[in-house]
Amino acid sequence: MASETTDCSPTEAVKYISELRDFVIRGSTSVEWRVGQLKLLREVLQEEKEAMCLALSIDLCVDEAQALLFQIGCLFGEIDHCLDNIAEWSAMKRVNTPMVLQPASSYVQAQPKGVVLIIGAWNYPFVVTFGPMLTALAAGNAVIVKPSELSPHAAQVMHRICSRLDQRAVRCCLGGVELSTTLVSQPLDHIVYTGSTRVGRLIMAAAAPNLTPVTLELGGKSPVVICGGININEACRRIAVGKFVNCGQTCIAPDYILVERGVRDEVVAELKKVTTDMFGDSSQAPEKLSRMVNQQAAERLQKALREPHGGHVALGGASAPPGTIKEGQRYVQPTIVVDPKNDSLLMQDELFGPVLPILSVASCDEAITYINSRPKPLALYVFAPPPVVDHVMQSTSSGAILVGDTAMHKGNPHVPFGGIGGSGMGSCYGEFGFNELSHQRAVMYRPLFPPSPITLPAD
Ligand code: NAD
Repeated sequence: MASETTDCSPTEAVKYISELRDFVIRGSTSVEWRVGQLKLLREVLQEEKEAMCLALSIDLCVDEAQALLFQIGCLFGEIDHCLDNIAEWSAMKRVNTPMVLQPASSYVQAQPKGVVLIIGAWNYPFVVTFGPMLTALAAGNAVIVKPSELSPHAAQVMHRICSRLDQRAVRCCLGGVELSTTLVSQPLDHIVYTGSTRVGRLIMAAAAPNLTPVTLELGGKSPVVICGGININEACRRIAVGKFVNCGQTCIAPDYILVERGVRDEVVAELKKVTTDMFGDSSQAPEKLSRMVNQQAAERLQKALREPHGGHVALGGASAPPGTIKEGQRYVQPTIVVDPKNDSLLMQDELFGPVLPILSVASCDEAITYINSRPKPLALYVFAPPPVVDHVMQSTSSGAILVGDTAMHKGNPHVPFGGIGGSGMGSCYGEFGFNELSHQRAVMYRPLFPPSPITLPAD
């Protein structure tokens, strides 16, 4: 890897914010400038693809094919989507004017908010950092980018890529919690934070004194509902892909399954089969399975599996059999646990790893009650016949609902991506992100002739 960039000091980062604001306030980020930056970003990403893949292989043991498919390729799609639509999104939109205010013409102007801080997480480091960055640039903002320190090689590459963009409007600052803490307390025009719900609360509190608006892309336990009367083999294949990609460290990974008791055994058997087909018997740390981000994350899951959970382990277990994996390889076997207790560690926090609890329910209504008793999830996945799907859709709330697959909605820039309640607020991708990172300014023209009939009553 090329020589390393050192961490940015909080003082330097604060100086960047004021320089960035000077640039954007002068109206320097015309649509032409934005298009130029997005095209340049596309070019630089193309040149740095190999370095991005290498960084992902070191930080998360992601193999090249998966890196290109899930961690890098989508950025090109997002850039192209912005380039195709930027003229329309940023054009002044004419709107009606009530008769009483005529003659007049009214518009809505999407204006850059100013300086947007983007704090990224480590699990899809390029997606969750460059995704919001490119939307913010499309909306004409200046950006200050703070990648996660937990994926340090990806952070280095991001720094290098950002340094090729217009430095008057884009700054990448490397550092950890101390730097984030300083940054979020500055007078910014918007903060986009991707990470845990716990830290999301801290970010929102830190932004409050300056009334800085926030977009929080958080996590949580995303459930899957399975009912009888569907193609269970295909459903299980799609669930396994969404669950085990990136070693389960995906914000929209299915966290657990609620399955109708009548089809539970079939679902468990199919999931075991498709998982074993993907990874072999998984005692040898398969190449195709990425690794946990660090040993601490692996131990957190191993602890949840070691503690009494009251369930039946249908596949995998705490860790690889002794002697098969070297110490420090951050490995957790793909694991399926059937009917763990509701108060077990497995059913408390987001698992964020390759462990899949399956809970039996008597009916779809019981699944709905269970989901509604917990924080609103980032995604809800439903595999059920159409009338049941409609019922789940009407009776639950979640960031997204996907019928017949898992995680794939992230690849569609035409739908919003974001959470609700504990799983986050707002959206920072595609047109929804463009609008969120723009100020919608009211514009009205009233000619001075004829004289206005609106007047104050005489005494
Ligand atoms: P992390 O530990 O890397 O933290 C994310 C960022 O927050 C980092 O840049 C870090 O420096 C900063 N940070 C950490 N503590 C902070 C503090 N006290 N104050 C200010 N900043 C701080 O990542 P993580 O939180 O472990 O990420 C995993 C979580 O992110 C999971 O819950 C996952 O579901 C969620 N996630 C959500 C999305 C989404 O789009 N909704 C995407 C990816 C990950």
